[in-house]
Amino acid sequence: MADAETATATAAPPTTETKPPAAEPKRWGDIEDDAPEEPTRVSGSTSEVSLDGLKIDESKKINKFLDEPEDSNIKAVTSGDTPYTSASTFEDLNLSPELLKGLYVEMKFQKPSKIQAISLPMILTPPYKDLIAQAHNGSGKTTCFVLGMLSRVDPKLTAPQALCICPTRELAIQNMEVLRKMGKYTGITSECAVPMDSRDYMPISKRAPISAQIVIGTPGTIKKWMSAKKLGTSYLKILVFDEADHMLAEDGFKDDSLRIKKDIERSSSHCQVLLFSATFNETVKNFVSKIVKSYNQLFVKKEELSLEAVKQYKVYCHDELAKIQIIKERIFDLGENLGQRIIFVRTRNSASMLHKQLTEDGYTVSSIQGAITPEDRDKLINEFRSGLSQVLISTDLLARGFDQQQINLVINYDLPIKYETHEPDYEVYLHRIGRAGRFGRKGAVFNLICGDRDAETIRKIELYFQTEAIEVKNNDEEFENALRQAGLL
Ligand code: ADP
Ligand code: MG
Repeated sequence: MADAETATATAAPPTTETKPPAAEPKRWGDIEDDAPEEPTRVSGSTSEVSLDGLKIDESKKINKFLDEPEDSNIKAVTSGDTPYTSASTFEDLNLSPELLKGLYVEMKFQKPSKIQAISLPMILTPPYKDLIAQAHNGSGKTTCFVLGMLSRVDPKLTAPQALCICPTRELAIQNMEVLRKMGKYTGITSECAVPMDSRDYMPISKRAPISAQIVIGTPGTIKKWMSAKKLGTSYLKILVFDEADHMLAEDGFKDDSLRIKKDIERSSSHCQVLLFSATFNETVKNFVSKIVKSYNQLFVKKEELSLEAVKQYKVYCHDELAKIQIIKERIFDLGENLGQRIIFVRTRNSASMLHKQLTEDGYTVSSIQGAITPEDRDKLINEFRSGLSQVLISTDLLARGFDQQQINLVINYDLPIKYETHEPDYEVYLHRIGRAGRFGRKGAVFNLICGDRDAETIRKIELYFQTEAIEVKNNDEEFENALRQAGLL
């Protein structure tokens, strides 16, 4: 576990951020809410401590068909002298009987995953320090902040006391569903603040102020509700950023997030801030450590971030036609008896083009991208979740956070690259492949490589994560072999 020499403390002096140009962030899929505002600055300081106590009982496997979710190399840096003991059972966390029932009966969880075991004591112990928490995709971060929110709100007080902000409507809805399930017996109420379909949209000015105790939503809508004085912040005790690195990235939602945080600080005396993600690149990590105060920190080295349970492959293709042929013959025909599959494309146009090519040939496939109305997006997601469709084409709209345990194959039809620079988007790559291998399940990723630029991109990705995508030749035998190696056949 945490050996002292790998745990690095970030002592951040007070700094002043300058206002970035108010440019529209550009993204391939154009998936998110919008609008920039001004940032803020706060300082943070931390110190190293030994974390020998933070070990959990490894003797009981959660499920013999699963590996442990890969978060065994989480390093922790705690701030100040608050001692934390990791929890080997949910009982260790002093949760209410209602919450324990939610965990065991509704969620069917048996024991905390490692990130839960380590982070929950930090979240739930006074003085409720801020937390920056990095852990692998699929390792159960949602439970950490959902339990944090549910444990800390007072069901007798009818005002927002916890707020969670997510980058997409899909993720906000998914997190809300987890919250409602886990909190089923608590009587705690919640509200989802996401862009509404125009048909049932009620102007914000006509709405009653939110009385729900927990609000989960996207930054644009949260900000709107707050400025319309429909979302009061004076009783907020806990503010969560899911996919926090993206929420605080320049080309993500930095300005909105900071604006929301600043408004909350103005009206609420102490609001604990929790930042969760599988990825925090150096730039974002430096920045986030400046906006939280005397925080605890959990992180994973980037070389240890890709999931061992998800095998990575690459297939060289002559041209776009060859890529489509691979999708048809291998991913559909050969993969028919596998679980669900998700194909990532770069743009809305690619999504439509691929969808058209496949359906014309009689393949059943769903595709989702930002240009589809919210209502239709919900319908498509529900179809896929219920298993009505087995293959989903998506832009990076679903690259982060989407949790569907049946997905065991990810196909990078287009490799993820940054819009502005065409450099590899390392974080997005990691999040995409993390759609398979949820909570230690087996999975595989096929990267389709077409041309020199793709070859260079995958090479850089391999180098960055110190991992190798194994080459698979485009024939049935090699694919079958690859699937077998991945434990899927
Ligand atoms: P992350 O946000 O870290 O990528 P999620 O919170 O979406 O991961 O969790 C991934 C999956 O693991 C979910 O399907 C969730 O229900 C499951 N899960 C989380 N915690 C546990 C647990 N303690 N026991 C069993 N399954 C869990
Ligand atoms: Mg998540």
